[in-house]
Amino acid sequence: MHYTDLHCDTAYEIYKTRSGLKKNNHHIDMAKAGKYDRYSQIFAVWSDNDKTDDENYEDFFKVRSYFIENLAENGIILCRTGGEYKDFEKPDENKNKNRAFLAVEGGKLLSDDISRLEVLYENDVRFLTLVWNGVCEIGGAFNSEDGLTEFGRQVVKRANELGIIIDLSHSSDKTVADVFEITDKPVIATHSNSRSVFNHKRNLTDGQFLEIKKRGGIVGISLCAAHIADEPVFIKDAIKHIDYYMSLGGENAVCFGCDFDGADIPEDMENVADVEKICAELKKIGYGDILIEKIMYRNADEFIAGNL
Ligand SMILES: [Zn+2]
Repeated sequence: MHYTDLHCDTAYEIYKTRSGLKKNNHHIDMAKAGKYDRYSQIFAVWSDNDKTDDENYEDFFKVRSYFIENLAENGIILCRTGGEYKDFEKPDENKNKNRAFLAVEGGKLLSDDISRLEVLYENDVRFLTLVWNGVCEIGGAFNSEDGLTEFGRQVVKRANELGIIIDLSHSSDKTVADVFEITDKPVIATHSNSRSVFNHKRNLTDGQFLEIKKRGGIVGISLCAAHIADEPVFIKDAIKHIDYYMSLGGENAVCFGCDFDGADIPEDMENVADVEKICAELKKIGYGDILIEKIMYRNADEFIAGNL
């Protein structure tokens, strides 16, 4: 089975602990991901609210260079375009099958300087989670009532021009509504479950899910236990979110964005290798092979190949 995942915090985690990607004690390393025939991952560099905007901006470059060294050591190809990404389909280029993309989670590091977005693009960032927590120069996150600021609107427009995909996970309802209003481009939610299944502000309303889907975007199921159900949380609880999104017509929009190395995951999972356990459960409850493949990688791969 192939596996493509829209969100993890592993780049930051391995930088902090200098533990590398080959084999570590985190959710993701290449030994664990070796379970999959081909593994593609969007790796996010996170903006920490306890640091200043400038400190976060400086950190980005440090995390990125450590991460890129690690990709090279592990034969993982950092992609910047859909074309580069699709190269795995060429039969004789299959030697290095694992692919990475670089994202930023939380636009706080931009401060109020739009030129930083251009620098991030030049430094391989192709996905931007606009906000993370609270309020920054861009606008409000899920735990605030704020929407996009003027600067936030500028960021969305410039990201569209540059070819950086906007990620609405963590945004407040008002920020999501403002983004829908100012752009027609496909947007995604890299790691967001359903609010109808579990009432948490980090989760998407049906209306938000349907709008993302209508625009040709994708939504990653998060394994962050706090956003799945009341504790204790198990795989079966995460599956309720998948099932519900399917009932909203999510067959071509749902994938995984597990939030590995950024969250506590269900009790019956240990790491990235266990996403296969979810597949096995889905199979047991009647999901067909084609639908499982769509959720595991095809929906994400098609979106990336078509939009980057
Ligand atoms: Zn997150």
